[in-house]
Amino acid sequence: MAKNKPKSALPDSQAIDWQRAVETSNNPSDVKIVPIFSIWGKGAVHESITKEAAKLAKVPYTTALEKGVEWPDVPSTKPGETNYPGLINGDLHKKGTITNNSHYGQNQFWHSMTPPGDFKNGDVLDKIVHQAVQWYEQAQKEKNIFHVGKILHIVQDSYSEAHTIRSKDGKIVTFQSYDKQDPNKHEKADVIPRWGTWRDVPGAISALQASTKILELYKSEASSKALEDYLRNQVFPFENGLTKNQPAGGTNPKYAPTIAENITNQNHYANLDKVLQEILISDSSAENKALMINRALEIASGHAQNAQTHTPTNNPEVL
Ligand SMILES: [Zn+2]
Repeated sequence: MAKNKPKSALPDSQAIDWQRAVETSNNPSDVKIVPIFSIWGKGAVHESITKEAAKLAKVPYTTALEKGVEWPDVPSTKPGETNYPGLINGDLHKKGTITNNSHYGQNQFWHSMTPPGDFKNGDVLDKIVHQAVQWYEQAQKEKNIFHVGKILHIVQDSYSEAHTIRSKDGKIVTFQSYDKQDPNKHEKADVIPRWGTWRDVPGAISALQASTKILELYKSEASSKALEDYLRNQVFPFENGLTKNQPAGGTNPKYAPTIAENITNQNHYANLDKVLQEILISDSSAENKALMINRALEIASGHAQNAQTHTPTNNPEVL
């Protein structure tokens, strides 16, 4: 975990207390931490996959490569840098910051996920491929494997069950959306089983194979066209050719904040009490509970506007 991350890699002004950050990430009542810290705390899956891939591809596992593979989770506007403090200094939830944009905004495709808006699965893939090709060419031009690391992050994430939905034979059915998910549930997809290693995380072995291949392409100075072909044909082939033209986004119900959304089906103020109670006793973080409660109230007030004859049976403000 954090121990292979030298503190000195961060400028002093950005120095943070790693132990505290990791501990806080395990405290569900903290509102500003995202899953990356838990992943660090539970075994650094991206880093482990990349280290092994580098070994198999016979490419040195350097700080630049490690920083690159971390970068989409902790992006910085400074070239070649990561910005961990962005996750805890409020940037994560501040619109317009590179951190917010990467997790919740237009750059969700850096994690093989669908940004907010109307996108087909094919559009998301085009964004991914365009970005990967650009980073690959930059890596070749600057002779800097950092940018290849960033591509590996996108590819590794694509094998996580919380990021895409793949068919049994590994074809892409859809790219999910982080902003439609409960971050706590999202995180659970990539946790190393208690008695296992990173290899036991679903998708990790496929991610390792793809990461190895991409490092081999870079090492052999293959063209960016070769990378594009590999991504389109091997990493991101679409299931039966149809899903490419279907709307992307949404989430596997497994990762949705389902309790709040259930109220749409319940369609009745009489059930609001029950829904709010369920939210309060769920194992989500305080932040997610607050989001779910707001969402439930929003939905409920939507129903009120649609059915003006309906009178609330309770006052949500007391809850
Ligand atoms: Zn990611």
